[in-house]
Amino acid sequence: MKFLGDYHTHTIYSHGLGMIEHNVIQAVKKGFKQIAITDHGFRHVVFNVRRFDFKYMRQDIERIKDKYDIDIFLGLETNLQSNEGHIDLKPQDIDKLDIILCGYHKFIYPSSLKAFFSFYMPNKLPRHKKSDLRKGRNTEAYLKAINRYPIDIIVHPKYGIEMNVVEIAKECKRLGVYIELNGKRISMTEEEVLATAETGVGFIVNSDAHSPDKVGDFTVQEEWIKKLNLNPDQIVNLDKIPKFRSRKLKGLD
Ligand SMILES: [Zn+2]
Ligand SMILES: [Zn+2]
Repeated sequence: MKFLGDYHTHTIYSHGLGMIEHNVIQAVKKGFKQIAITDHGFRHVVFNVRRFDFKYMRQDIERIKDKYDIDIFLGLETNLQSNEGHIDLKPQDIDKLDIILCGYHKFIYPSSLKAFFSFYMPNKLPRHKKSDLRKGRNTEAYLKAINRYPIDIIVHPKYGIEMNVVEIAKECKRLGVYIELNGKRISMTEEEVLATAETGVGFIVNSDAHSPDKVGDFTVQEEWIKKLNLNPDQIVNLDKIPKFRSRKLKGLD
């Protein structure tokens, strides 16, 4: 399978091991046309990128971009923070980013005290009889987030969080948001991936590499694609360059 880009990679700006250039070199080796640098969002408790680092990240990219025959996107893996679909992104951040990822992470600062009790804590509790209620609220939270912000990709769906992926995928399809098949983990069941595929949403295959050698490592996803016989046309970075919603909204694509 020939993929043309990896749109979820980490560097030392959060808790990856490599510099931006190391990830880029590996992506070039893989024959990719595009790579995105997407460190953890501002409100991640430990591994967050700091807002002032953006300037240095952009400088790093500007310095190396002509050395390599590849597009380098500066992005962010933002955190879902509340039942109302808040994420840790301010309007002024959007213009600084080439691509916006969104996912759920356990250790974040919630957006408010209310979100601490209504979103953060309930999602930390073990499964219990109110799980269906929680699942519904989380699904709503994602739906609100993708309508509120120009998110391009929902990363590692269902990792550490209950949600109705199919309902979210239907709205993603309508808005042009992609559902990620993550290289470290696919937390959906086979049935869920198949039902998600039925919605017609675009899947994007990303490594979520935390070290340069893992950039472009799609071993896990290739097995799933073969086993479930997913339609190659539906995988947006397989043999093609994806069109990203936030770039379209900015008139760039
Ligand atoms: Zn993540
Ligand atoms: Zn990540």
